[in-house]
Amino acid sequence: MNNYFDYLIVGSGLFGSIFAYEATKRGKKCLVIDKRSHTGGNIYCENKDTINIHKYGAHIFHTNDTNIWNYINQFSKFNNFINSPIANYHGEIYNLPFNMNTFSKIWNIRTPQEAFDIINKQKSIISTIPKNLEEQAISLVGTDIYEKLIKGYTEKQWGRDCKSLPPFIIKRLPVRYTYNNNYFNATYQGIPIGGYNKIINKLLNNIEVKLNTDFNLYRNIFSTISKKIIYTGSIDSYFNYKFGALDYRGLKFKTYKLDQNNYQGVAVMNFTDKDTPYTRIIEHKHFEFGNQPITYITKEYPSNWKIGDEAYYPINDDRNQKLYKKYFNLAKLENNIIFGGRLGEYKYYDMDQVINSALKLVTKELN
Ligand code: FAD
Ligand code: UDP
Repeated sequence: MNNYFDYLIVGSGLFGSIFAYEATKRGKKCLVIDKRSHTGGNIYCENKDTINIHKYGAHIFHTNDTNIWNYINQFSKFNNFINSPIANYHGEIYNLPFNMNTFSKIWNIRTPQEAFDIINKQKSIISTIPKNLEEQAISLVGTDIYEKLIKGYTEKQWGRDCKSLPPFIIKRLPVRYTYNNNYFNATYQGIPIGGYNKIINKLLNNIEVKLNTDFNLYRNIFSTISKKIIYTGSIDSYFNYKFGALDYRGLKFKTYKLDQNNYQGVAVMNFTDKDTPYTRIIEHKHFEFGNQPITYITKEYPSNWKIGDEAYYPINDDRNQKLYKKYFNLAKLENNIIFGGRLGEYKYYDMDQVINSALKLVTKELN
């Protein structure tokens, strides 16, 4: 069995599946393993009563990169879903991302100039370059919106005070002085018609896949069966946490079938107060404009992560970046393993960034 495969790919998420597909296309022999009971990693959907349930949280594809859009469209066409989530603060409803609809509702104003003047006044308490998420948020949208729509949500989501989180997290969200509720500033956006599994199934078609197989439990076998390993699990788990564990944020999902056709009127509702224990409720049918007589909703609860739990979000603060660098340097010393994807690279990647990273590796490794 020694070096029987060209590549062992650990993880059948988007990164691993794209690499496996491109390598196989170039005549390489690949084996994909995954510790879960299904392929697709976090984009996996479970179909129930004709509704695709986003098992690991709402996934909306968006990108500004035409090459990536064309690449993923080879595997599925996309619908015209535009993410326009609603913020619910103790029952008060606001539009997201922060835009003229939000400003108008919160301050009873109408013009961009009025909004600009209020935000300018409120943000004057921050006079230096923002050092943390709180300062960054206030300097983008002022104190009122920070208090109602950011502080509670963020502290639940990350389990930390906004003063000890990096500013870049909040810069993911657009702030607009127009009446535009599109959550993303993206040229291309949508949900794959027929669901995400269709994409993964096409990528892995004709490739050997072993599910329920944790690399770290069968390391002795799996370290020797291929010339190279592509590892998309967490980099610190591969090295058995020898410098200590990186921090991650965990999540728990609770899904309910409801005997009604429309529960909340929107795919994603964010609960931005600190007392509601979940951050979001997803109503899955709205991603695909479903008109079934029943509906499925999922409540998303952030949770503390410990070794053995699924790691959902890397926490890219200074301490963790330094620790990651140590693992990264250690990885460079190994010549037959490459780390990739959200966990392998410890980056807060969206799907388009994962595709970009996988295709870069393909160019480097296989062309
Ligand atoms: P993953 O999908 O995590 O796949 C890694 C795979 O490796 C998993 O299947 C895992 O089981 C397997 N694995 C790990 N360790 C081992 C091991 N030791 N042995 C065997 N198998 C192993 N992106 C967007 O673009 N839009 C969104 O709206 C969006 N929403 C998101 C919402 C949530 C709640 C989360 C958590 C992420 C969201 N993302 C979104 C990000 C998106 O999920 C990722 O960018 C993408 O799925 C990462 O792909 P990946 O292959 O790197 O990792
Ligand atoms: N955020 C917030 N209020 C919201 C939505 C988002 O404060 O209603 C903040 C929060 O800190 C979050 C960050 O913006 O972590 C990025 O939000 P995004 O929706 O991009 O997070 P993801 O979908 O990756 O969980």
